[in-house]
Amino acid sequence: MIDRYRYLVESGADPAEWSYAWRSALNRGGFQAVDLLMEEIVETGRCVGCAACVTICPVDVCEYRTERPVDRHPEACVLCVLCAEVCPVLRPADKDLHEMLDLRPPAIDEGFGPYGYGVYARSTDPDWVARAQDGGLVSALVIHGLETNALAGAVLGDVKPEQRQIGRHILATTREEVLGAAGSRYTYSPNTLALLDAMRLDVSPIAVVGVPCQVDGVRFQQNSSIPLSLANWYRDNIALVIGLLCSEAFTHESIAKLGEMIDVEPERIENINIKGKVVVRLNDGEIRTASLKRYQEFARPACLYCLDYGAENADISAGGIGMDNWTLTLVRTEAGHRALQTAIDDGWVESRPLEDEPRGMFLFDMLAASKKKNRPLPALMPTLPERETLGWLNPKTFYTKGPGAPAAIEDETP
Ligand SMILES: Cc1cc2nc3c(=O)[nH]c(=O)nc-3n(C[C@H](O)[C@H](O)[C@H](O)COP(=O)(O)OP(=O)(O)OC[C@H]3O[C@@H](n4cnc5c(N)ncnc54)[C@H](O)[C@@H]3O)c2cc1C
Ligand code: SF4
Ligand code: SF4
Ligand code: SF4
Repeated sequence: MIDRYRYLVESGADPAEWSYAWRSALNRGGFQAVDLLMEEIVETGRCVGCAACVTICPVDVCEYRTERPVDRHPEACVLCVLCAEVCPVLRPADKDLHEMLDLRPPAIDEGFGPYGYGVYARSTDPDWVARAQDGGLVSALVIHGLETNALAGAVLGDVKPEQRQIGRHILATTREEVLGAAGSRYTYSPNTLALLDAMRLDVSPIAVVGVPCQVDGVRFQQNSSIPLSLANWYRDNIALVIGLLCSEAFTHESIAKLGEMIDVEPERIENINIKGKVVVRLNDGEIRTASLKRYQEFARPACLYCLDYGAENADISAGGIGMDNWTLTLVRTEAGHRALQTAIDDGWVESRPLEDEPRGMFLFDMLAASKKKNRPLPALMPTLPERETLGWLNPKTFYTKGPGAPAAIEDETP
């Protein structure tokens, strides 16, 4: 079966056909989709850790450990294929995904996903802005949703009190919990594991906040053509998906390395913000900076298997480029527009035009394009062991300066 999948991938078959390979194999019997995921995505080091396969499984075959699913109970598998269906690395999104999203007109697509309009936005509460990563728009939208009963909970990334740069998931239902989770951790945070808490406790409707790979996993879950109860629950009860722009996430080891680069104990790092350089706030308020180019050597190797900078399938995409202490905000869907507009109407959020700082969209365009530059679909990329052999794990440069870059054209001038 896996040979058949790889044959389709490598023979240049239409990627929309790839998923038929495992569906038809299942119909013939004797094949477990989870084996395909393990052999093709996890054991090859292609897994980005989005947890979609873990949170969709009706019988908990996989556990989530160190940014990966582990198939602890394969004997329980009921052959539903959902885990393979929702993996954003195994195949691209279905062509009908955008129909499900209810895009906000004019649905402009300039190469980083369709959107209706963009603004700089921020919370009108200066205390929230101070606690947040940029303008606090994400926290303000979630709290506004909770306190106006548009939301009953939100799947977020929380902070581990003992290690403030390592994230964990939380199902937040109160203002305090949302503000406690504000700010960005640049290591990978398994936010979407909290979907299981929401479903088991039947907390609905909910918002999901996550990086683009998590947004895609959620969208594949909601758009699945396999009508099992978990997929249905996600489709019916996730009311708002807020995606964070993402160039890359970093390994846990990167925090110690960053400490060495700025000459402080890593425990003293209170917040990291990336603004062309790495801006580090220490626990006494002191700010130190480090070279982003050097820090990027510690980007997660798995982030190579990702072409999405702008959270192209979110309701709202939020980032920190352009104007300091404001959140660059793209509204992609009607659900995103409702959430932002009601928060503005109620005085919780203020906005200003993107033209006030044109550099924001200039950077968006550039960073989104550079993430796709020269890259084939993830399933066509080399495995992690192959990249180890090549001696090039940096996801930022593999396809620009590394072994995946196009060969330089010989200068033929005499
Ligand atoms: C790994 C990572 C990489 C990013 N890269 C870029 C980039 O290249 N360019 C850019 O413009 N913006 C990037 N961002 C987004 C930026 O850091 C802010 O999250 C965004 O501007 C929203 O700011 P805010 O003040 O509105 O959010 P806040 O109100 O501070 O809320 C932030 C939310 O992010 C969630 N969160 C925190 N850490 C994580 C995590 N590791 N994974 C998932 N969710 C998390 C929290 O649940 C919180 O609700 C990145 C964010 C992350 C987490
Ligand atoms: S039960 Fe379904 S989702 Fe779970 S491992 Fe088996 S095929 Fe995958
Ligand atoms: S990328 Fe996501 S869905 Fe695919 S195997 Fe990894 S955790 Fe599972
Ligand atoms: S770069 Fe892609 S895979 Fe890596 S954390 Fe960001 S969205 Fe996920």
